[in-house]
Amino acid sequence: MKSPKEIISEIKQTLPPDIKLVAVSKFHPASMIEDAYAGGQRLFGENHVQELQQKHEVLPKDIEWHFIGHLQTNKVKYIAEYVHLIHAVDTHKLLMEINKQAEKHNRVIDCLLQLHVAQEETKFGFTPQELLDYVEQGEWRALKNVRLCGLMCMASNVDDKKQIASEFEQANTIFNKLKSEYFNNEDCFAIRSWGMSDDYPIAIEYGSNMIRVGSKIFGPRVY
Ligand SMILES: *Cc1c(COP(=O)(O)O)cnc(C)c1O
Repeated sequence: MKSPKEIISEIKQTLPPDIKLVAVSKFHPASMIEDAYAGGQRLFGENHVQELQQKHEVLPKDIEWHFIGHLQTNKVKYIAEYVHLIHAVDTHKLLMEINKQAEKHNRVIDCLLQLHVAQEETKFGFTPQELLDYVEQGEWRALKNVRLCGLMCMASNVDDKKQIASEFEQANTIFNKLKSEYFNNEDCFAIRSWGMSDDYPIAIEYGSNMIRVGSKIFGPRVY
């Protein structure tokens, strides 16, 4: 069996140079992260606060921790000191809390807004119209300890490649619209976080520049 670091190196050889790879290590032990780390990987993604806390404590401090899943408002405080990027901001309330906790640590936390483009009803995120309205309305501008850096989305969990492609394409169109209308002078607003183990090649065709890959690197998760 190949090790995480070998698989990461194989994936990276196929990626265009401007694409960042977040290795999604949720449910996998710190030892597997250490293997990937030894191969040079520094971006890791987690989606449970407690698990992230434990890993952050024992693993090297130059890891960039990405919080990729749904984040509960009452848990922001536990990760605010060190989290590198929060991918799935889906309410103003959450963004306000991130801002408040970031301020306590005298830092600015980078965030992505989560866009809901998938068919599944269970997934979190702003619908396209909600997202456009939210950005237009501008309440986020008052928050000085968070920085909006782009969008994140997940495609439907289906085999139909056309369906997946059309969802990523929609996300890309909305990103470009927001970029040109509201963030043209903000260099930081540049991240398109879409694509996972099964669909990242399609995501890259439709503008992704940050992929979040878990099971392909670390194997199946045991929940
Ligand atoms: C688990 C997870 C991933 C990684 O999924 P894989 O299919 O294992 O690559 C990516 N993004 C989010 C938001 C996740 O929760």
